[in-house]
Amino acid sequence: MSNTQQTKAFGTEAADAALQAMNITRREVLSDDVEIEILYCGVCHSDLHTARNDWGGTVYPAVPGHEIVGRVSRVGSAVSRFKAGDLAAVGCMVDSCGECGNCKKDLEQYCTKGFTGTYNGVDKHLGARTYGGYSEKVVVKEHFVLKVPASLDLAATAPLLCAGITTWSPLRHWKVGKGSTIAVVGLGGLGHMAIKLARGLGAHVTLFSRTPDKKQDALDLGADDIIISTDDAAMEAAAGRFDLIIDTVPYVHDLNPYIRTLSASGTLVLVGFLGKLEPMLNTAPMVIGRKAISGSLIGGIAETQEMLDFCGEHNISSEIELINIQDINEAYERMLKSDVRYRFVIDMASLKQ
Ligand code: NAP
Ligand code: ZN
Repeated sequence: MSNTQQTKAFGTEAADAALQAMNITRREVLSDDVEIEILYCGVCHSDLHTARNDWGGTVYPAVPGHEIVGRVSRVGSAVSRFKAGDLAAVGCMVDSCGECGNCKKDLEQYCTKGFTGTYNGVDKHLGARTYGGYSEKVVVKEHFVLKVPASLDLAATAPLLCAGITTWSPLRHWKVGKGSTIAVVGLGGLGHMAIKLARGLGAHVTLFSRTPDKKQDALDLGADDIIISTDDAAMEAAAGRFDLIIDTVPYVHDLNPYIRTLSASGTLVLVGFLGKLEPMLNTAPMVIGRKAISGSLIGGIAETQEMLDFCGEHNISSEIELINIQDINEAYERMLKSDVRYRFVIDMASLKQ
């Protein structure tokens, strides 16, 4: 038997090319693998960054997609937690070393040897690129496959696998709960999940947005108030308010006005922008108020399952616009204009059209 199989997918051949139908090669199901027929895949801004090589390092062809929900079609002989017909989900990682200190602490996302990304990673068995969820099926090591709560809409569950865990992990790390006063910067895919999850944990939540007409949506999602970040007086009035700020903005922006709004010992966590900051940071308010800037990357597998279970119990899922895979290029253009309320999810049945 061949150790690979052909799969239909949608991906891109170059940074400036449109995404289009293509065939890709995945590994055959190994003893500890789960094969999943993909039903829905969320569209993360990281998919766009990767397709267009914004971060460098994209190897083409590239097939994005790391918010995957589907149904198990086959399992390897050593798999114990899943069987054919079960619902299953996959997020941003499909493998890690499993042996380093971070992996042993359920922090696979910080694996010292580097985790294997669901797309644009290197499949350890084939030595070839990994391809993401804009595809009819995926083969994933059992440890990296999540259980889907039975109570949630399946399409609206997909974005939890990245947007959900990426905002959940800092909320948990900084112990957000009742009595916490937090803020979220940017109301997009990550931002809207941050509001819902923080509210679910009992925190007081404020949204910073550039977009005044998102105000009612923010309140409907569970925010207590909204500050328009271009309103200098409103920013000034918020000085010293927040224990934690989760900043989801994908592009370079000035952090100084936000740092002013942190309370003493507060932390601003960057989850959106990866790169060099401009303009320069004024460290004086940080020193004087013991304020910190941190970053955070997705979340571990156990933490992802914890988040999914929490969402199942609290009936939390994403606000989505369901699209066909043929609409993905237009969806990217709309995402660049922040014209998505609040996550595109691809109905993968459209790949068969
Ligand atoms: P998104 O849906 O496009 O949302 C981003 C939001 O940021 C927008 O809705 C907009 O909100 C605001 N925004 C956009 N451009 C801006 C600009 N130039 N200046 C100020 N605000 C701006 O994106 P997403 O899928 O939530 O992803 C956000 C970022 O997180 C991306 O860079 C993505 O790659 C990254 N990410 C990181 C991780 C991680 O593990 N750390 C995981 C997933 C994604 P308003 O209209 O409300 O201002
Ligand atoms: Zn993502």
